[in-house]
Amino acid sequence: MEEKDARLKLFFNELYASSNLKSKNKETQIQYIDTLADLGITVTSRSIARFKTNAAEEHAEIVDSALAEHVEKAMVLNIDDYHSIHTPRMPNTTTTSTAAHLATILMNPITTQAAIPQENIHNPLLVDANLIKLNIGNQFMTLYSLTHNQRWGFRTVDDNTRLEELTVHSYDVRLKEKRHIRSIKDVVLIDLQENQLHSMGEYIDAINAVTSVPFIWQYIEKGHIIPLVADWPGQIHLRTAISRYLLYKDSSNITNNILSFLSIIGPLHISLNSRELVFLQYRPFFTEMYKYIFGPKKPLAQTPKPWRINLLLEIFRSLGRKFRKRFVFKKKEKEKEKSDESVSLTAMKMPEVHLSHLPLGFNALHKPNLFHYCDSTNCSVFFSVNPNPIRILACGHSYHESCHTNNDFKCLHCLGLLQDGIDRNVQSLLESLQNLNKKKKERTKK
Ligand SMILES: [Zn+2]
Ligand SMILES: [Zn+2]
Repeated sequence: MEEKDARLKLFFNELYASSNLKSKNKETQIQYIDTLADLGITVTSRSIARFKTNAAEEHAEIVDSALAEHVEKAMVLNIDDYHSIHTPRMPNTTTTSTAAHLATILMNPITTQAAIPQENIHNPLLVDANLIKLNIGNQFMTLYSLTHNQRWGFRTVDDNTRLEELTVHSYDVRLKEKRHIRSIKDVVLIDLQENQLHSMGEYIDAINAVTSVPFIWQYIEKGHIIPLVADWPGQIHLRTAISRYLLYKDSSNITNNILSFLSIIGPLHISLNSRELVFLQYRPFFTEMYKYIFGPKKPLAQTPKPWRINLLLEIFRSLGRKFRKRFVFKKKEKEKEKSDESVSLTAMKMPEVHLSHLPLGFNALHKPNLFHYCDSTNCSVFFSVNPNPIRILACGHSYHESCHTNNDFKCLHCLGLLQDGIDRNVQSLLESLQNLNKKKKERTKK
């Protein structure tokens, strides 16, 4: 048929394209829709446009009235990227993928909590190294003496709880057990916008969509603050925007609206990121372990799913239970026969062992001394005096019980190491937060 009339071929092409709108640009889409309309198959592009405008206007009203019900309540904002995996990911000459990068902007009214007033919530020092060091020393250092299993104990849990714990990061819709957690009853979708969320400017665009809702505008004018839950890149970009406004005010080209948002990272992200970090640090070991358990034909993916990382960590944690006695008492018995109980790192298939693969203590200036019972710099126990019990800490340092108590149950060598690290990292973070020039380039590029 096509061969008889070339125009027919054009027509069929157009008809085919109209029924397959995904990968075309807007103008051609409109043209195709109108072709279908001429055929009486569908409505014209103008009707669709009108319908879309109406829907958008209605949506704005719905958002405003839904939020207005919770005017005195706390609000938590969530900005996250949404990768549409249902679009074709075929690269062509102009784009590498047609998958759209969308950002979901959700507002979650906390009906049980009153609105949060904005009172000195932004530290003028931007990131306060001394505050972090103080809290590490006072609150966490004692806990860092304990191994994971000493801290959390060898709990025995039923299969359902274990399944729940292993799949806590799984968003798989097939998991029936998870559906109720993902219910979003009061949550309001403020916008679903095309936004890659890759730069500070793009986060500001998302924030602007929020503040353009009249209700939100009034809400922050009243002096209420909105915590903003976002992933790690979100933390950095939002914190950068806040810092630059605090430092440079209007010359930062950022409005003071940004001060009404406080970026926070949720426990789920912390847990997810820290598990991933542990996995990445010891990847060669976990890869071998996976191969041993599931066979060489099933290699571990380069970036495994969170539940798989959880499973590997859980298996290793349970292993720790079996080897516990051997690990803990290894050092005490060092002068007895050299037993084969010590686990060499080559046996873990990590021939290239770096300091970072070893416990914290081996990275400190004062390394755990295998020939001394006590690593304390002010050790007052003489060996000849009555045997003072020894504690080997998770960091690898060992102390007399009394020396450990004298140091407030902290390893001061490792505290020093962490404090130095905090100083270094905060310094470099501050430099990047304050660097206005980099930011200006970013804005002009857009
Ligand atoms: Zn230590
Ligand atoms: Zn001592």
